[in-house]
Amino acid sequence: MKIYLAENRGFCYGVKRAIDLAVHAADTNCPVYTLGPIIHNPQMVDQLQEMGIGVAARLEDIATGKVIIRSHGVGPEIYCQAEAKQLTVVDATCPHVKKAQQAAQALLKAGCRVVIVGERHHPEVQSILGWANNEADVVETPLEAQALPYHSRLGVVAQTTFAAAEFDAIVAILQGKCDECKVERTICTATDLRQQAAVNLARNVDSMIIVGGRSSANTARLASVCRTAGTPAYHIESASELKAEWFAGLQTVGITAGASTPDWVIEEVYKKMEAMNMTDVVKLETGTIVTGTIVGVRHDEVFVDIG
Ligand code: SF4
Repeated sequence: MKIYLAENRGFCYGVKRAIDLAVHAADTNCPVYTLGPIIHNPQMVDQLQEMGIGVAARLEDIATGKVIIRSHGVGPEIYCQAEAKQLTVVDATCPHVKKAQQAAQALLKAGCRVVIVGERHHPEVQSILGWANNEADVVETPLEAQALPYHSRLGVVAQTTFAAAEFDAIVAILQGKCDECKVERTICTATDLRQQAAVNLARNVDSMIIVGGRSSANTARLASVCRTAGTPAYHIESASELKAEWFAGLQTVGITAGASTPDWVIEEVYKKMEAMNMTDVVKLETGTIVTGTIVGVRHDEVFVDIG
C-alpha cells in the first residue's frame, strides 16, 4: 500500500501567525490568555498551556495581563471591553478575516442589507456579524437564501473557510432577491487550495485520512469534499484513532489536514501508518507522483528519498 500526502495541507498563514504572536506574547511575566482556544486543535492548545498561555472562555474571566484575540477575530465590543479593563490586546485576527469584517462594515455603511454566507455559530461568523452591527442575515444553505425577504440592496460577504462552489450557488440565489447585489468574495485561498488538493488527491486514491480537530470547520469540510468526490474519508484528531481494518485490501491512501493541524500531528499519523507496514509515503505533485520513502515532513515540505 502507498500513502500520498496532499500538496497543500495543515497550518495556514493565519494560524501560523496567531501561534507566533501567542508564543511571543508569552515571553513576559504577566498573565496571558487566549479568548477561546487559539485554534481548533486540542494538542496545540495543550502545548501553549505548557508555555503558560491560558484559555479564557470570556473576557470577564481575565482580571489583568494580556488577552490574545485568536485568528477568528471578535466583534468591536470586545476591544472596547478589553480597553476598559486595561488589558493589553494582542490581535491575532487573521488579515483575511479582518478583510471580511471590514467588508461587512463598509457594506452596512453603504446602505446594504448585509448577508454573511457561513456557519451561523462559528466564532468567525459571529465576529463578522459584530462588525455589521449585529444587523446582518446569516445564510448557511441555498434553502436559507431562498427564504430571505426582498431587499433593494444586498451586500454579501463569505466566512473565509466557506466552500467556493457553495458560496457561488448561494450568491446566484441572492442576486434574484434584490435590485442590486454587492458581493465581497472573502474566501481565503488557503481554504480553496487545501480543498482543491484534497479533491485532487481523493480522486487518485482508495481512501482518505483527514487529520484535524473535531470542531475545526475547515477540517470537516475537507472530509466532506473528499466524500463528495466519491472517496471514503476518515476524520481523525490524532494517530491513536487510526484502525488497521480501514486499510484492508486498499492499494492507496491519501492524507490531508485542516488549516489548524500542526505538522507534528500529521507526522504522528503517517508514522503510525508506517508502523502498520505502509512504508512508501509519497507526495502528490500536480500531475506527477513522486515515489519513494519519506524521510521527514517539516512545515509545507515533504522530504522524500527517491533513491
Ligand atoms: Fe486566515 Fe485563511 Fe487560515 Fe482562516 S484559513 S486563518 S482566513 S489564512
